[in-house]
Amino acid sequence: MNIDSARPGHWTDDQLIDYLYGVGPQDGHVDACGECRVRLAKIQARRDALNFGSGDEIGHEFLAEQRRRIYARMAQPVRWWQEMAVRRWTSALATGGLLAAGMLYYESVQRPRRPVNEVTDAQLAQEVSSMAQDPEPAPTAPLQALFEE
Ligand SMILES: [Zn+2]
Repeated sequence: MNIDSARPGHWTDDQLIDYLYGVGPQDGHVDACGECRVRLAKIQARRDALNFGSGDEIGHEFLAEQRRRIYARMAQPVRWWQEMAVRRWTSALATGGLLAAGMLYYESVQRPRRPVNEVTDAQLAQEVSSMAQDPEPAPTAPLQALFEE
């Protein structure tokens, strides 16, 4: 609430609001100072406007109007349930869409890529048979030399 900025020597807005609710300063400044009395009146007017012109209590008319609105909504349960169903379906569709998008993304990232230099079955068979024909692979030859005497 920024009704008027307080100047030195006068009460602040907070002090005026506190005074309005009976917990403000008790130095009697607002009784002696016309400027603070005007600001207090402005704050009081704004508070009363927010409280529907009924002072401290919530107005009886406001409560009655609220009750009428609640009964009016209870009188049309079909529309209320339709709204709920629409909301439920909307959230379900949104969730499903997010899941589908996530799965598509995961699939595109996780899909195994074919190796660049692919070995065909024929090449593999040829390699295995050449290894079988050669009883001693080349890399182990130096090791064999260690045990020959
Ligand atoms: Zn003052």
